[in-house]
Amino acid sequence: MNAHVVAPRSPARLFAIYAVISLVPVLVLGLVLARSLQGEARQRGLAEGRSEAALVAQTGVAPLLDGRPLSRGVSPGEQTRLRRLVAQAVGERQVLRLRIRDLAGQVVFSDDGSGFQAKPEDEALAGARGFVVARLTRLNTDSNDQGRTGVASVEIYLPLKAGTPLRRVGVLELYLPYAPISHDVTAGLHGLYVDLVIGLAMLYVALFAISWSVSRGLRREVALNAFLAEHDALTDLPNRALFHRRAEAAVRVGNRRSEPVAIAIIDLDRFKYINDTLGHHNGDRLLTELAARVAANTRPHDTVARLGGDEFGLILRDAAGAEQALRRLRDIIDEEIEVSGLPLSVEASIGFVIAPEDGTHVDILLQRADMAMYLAKARHSGVMRYAPALDDYDAAKLSLVGELRHAIDAGQLVLHYQPQTKLADGRVEAVEALVRWQHPTQGLLYPDKFLPLAEQTDVIDKLTLWVLRTALREVRNLSSPADELTVAINVSARSIGRMELAEGIIEALEDLGVPAERLVVEVTETALLADPERAASVLRELSCAGVKVSLDDFGRGQTSLGLLSALPIHELKIDKSFVLDMVENPAHAAIVRSIVDLGHNLDLRVVGEGVETDVALAALRDSDCDVAQGFLLARPMAVDQLSAWLAPRLSPRATA
Ligand code: C2E
Ligand code: MG
Ligand code: MG
Repeated sequence: MNAHVVAPRSPARLFAIYAVISLVPVLVLGLVLARSLQGEARQRGLAEGRSEAALVAQTGVAPLLDGRPLSRGVSPGEQTRLRRLVAQAVGERQVLRLRIRDLAGQVVFSDDGSGFQAKPEDEALAGARGFVVARLTRLNTDSNDQGRTGVASVEIYLPLKAGTPLRRVGVLELYLPYAPISHDVTAGLHGLYVDLVIGLAMLYVALFAISWSVSRGLRREVALNAFLAEHDALTDLPNRALFHRRAEAAVRVGNRRSEPVAIAIIDLDRFKYINDTLGHHNGDRLLTELAARVAANTRPHDTVARLGGDEFGLILRDAAGAEQALRRLRDIIDEEIEVSGLPLSVEASIGFVIAPEDGTHVDILLQRADMAMYLAKARHSGVMRYAPALDDYDAAKLSLVGELRHAIDAGQLVLHYQPQTKLADGRVEAVEALVRWQHPTQGLLYPDKFLPLAEQTDVIDKLTLWVLRTALREVRNLSSPADELTVAINVSARSIGRMELAEGIIEALEDLGVPAERLVVEVTETALLADPERAASVLRELSCAGVKVSLDDFGRGQTSLGLLSALPIHELKIDKSFVLDMVENPAHAAIVRSIVDLGHNLDLRVVGEGVETDVALAALRDSDCDVAQGFLLARPMAVDQLSAWLAPRLSPRATA
């Protein structure tokens, strides 16, 4: 599952890299210091050579000279004395070469007879002017010298003073062996070198320790940031981006190994309700607990991710046992959880796909898993696998159901009212409330766009209650001639099956101060047939309270006539498909007449809906129908229009 993640460097390797990197500046510093120490040693060597040479000049050579200008050459006495000195000094290898020059730089005495013919060097002339010049060289390397190159030496030119009083008479040119000098100097430097190495070693250790610890801190921060970018802050689970990448990798690997992979989407039911009633803090705790539960019950190579809100994603390697595993997970999610001392339980709906059978592209797979999840929710089936037939449920429609829950709270629903006119005298006694959704992006939506799916989820109960309360309030608030006006609301099959419905209706009537007689509850035949016993008991309760019951779309289903007589029904509404074409279609006209007769025989009021033309209205009247409803008389309208529309029509004198 982690195949796509770049492998981090091992600590040992990182350690080695840091060791080498920290060594570089220390080595550079060591080299610079060593070079400067060497330079210092040279200077010291030369200084020592200079002072040795000055000693030789003052104590050895000067006393041997008469004080005469040397331009005239050395006297025989001087010559003899100098030879003796040289024999001793050169013999003992304290001096390698000794020459004496006059103030013009010309050699006047040379221990080995060399240099007499040569042109004076600049150093010699500088010595004649009173300067001391010293340099490191080798014997016989001057431009004028001949013979074999000798050992390393210090070559010194220094002014020679003699006579009484002392005066500059010439220049002494000395070559001293460098080895003994450098030996003394480097002996002194040795300690310095040791100190330098110890210092550098300590610097290296300190530098390494600092850079290692700083970089470790940085590495940790980088790792933390990388983790946060790919994980959910609340549950620490991978987020949608990482889930997507892992799903891609899993599908790819699965394809290569011919091992199918399951991808599932888990959505909690009623989570928003918990969040709203118990607060986000407790909602978060519930999510954290559930995330830990799901993660603990999947295998290490599977992936559990939080995709957002109350939605989780799952990648299962073992697709064969996927459905079973998901059902088990759903049961685990269902188990009670204690949050802030409250025992809570949430149900989950899970949709899943198996790759490559259900698709190979992750976006398509996720979209299909999502669709299966919506249907699992709509059908209360818990876990559902995608099947191509599900594509008939267009995905946009499915996501509308999710939005609807929010739309009710956000006040996006409105009621339109369609009047019902008494055929006998044209009086309007009732209106039917029909819901519409003022969708923020899709405009005004009619019930067929969102009700069929909403009816498969519990959101329909919320909608029924909203319609009930809104219709009662709006009709109650209509101006006084409408005091007697009845309002009909539609109740879906699912809501009819709930015992709480009657209670909710009676409570709303009391709360809003509307007499029960002013409310009609319309139910369809199919709603009754789903669970006739329960429906009967709800309708009975309503009827006892004074609420009237109307059987909507009558003729379209297969209500048993026995049931019709057993139920507390007050009104039959002939399905509009019969009314719409009753003029052209004699069979439909016959059905309309039969339903009217049946209704009257059972002492029921009969309403014909779908009246679009005058001839249809006349035909309905001829059939002895009681009430008409249809576009010819009025289209469903908003409550403001309704009060204006109703004003002239509430009196018995007005005729249709
Ligand atoms: P329904 O209860 O049979 O409502 C009558 C439908 O027929 C309404 O459609 C109305 O606009 C339409 N209609 C009225 N007169 C004519 C006509 O002359 N010609 C034609 N062609 N149609 C006419 P609408 O508003 O689209 O509602 C459709 C269905 O949605 C309703 O059928 C009802 O079953 C359901 N519905 C509407 N509001 C609610 C609601 O608040 N709750 C529930 N559970 N269902 C509702
Ligand atoms: Mg209706
Ligand atoms: Mg109807």
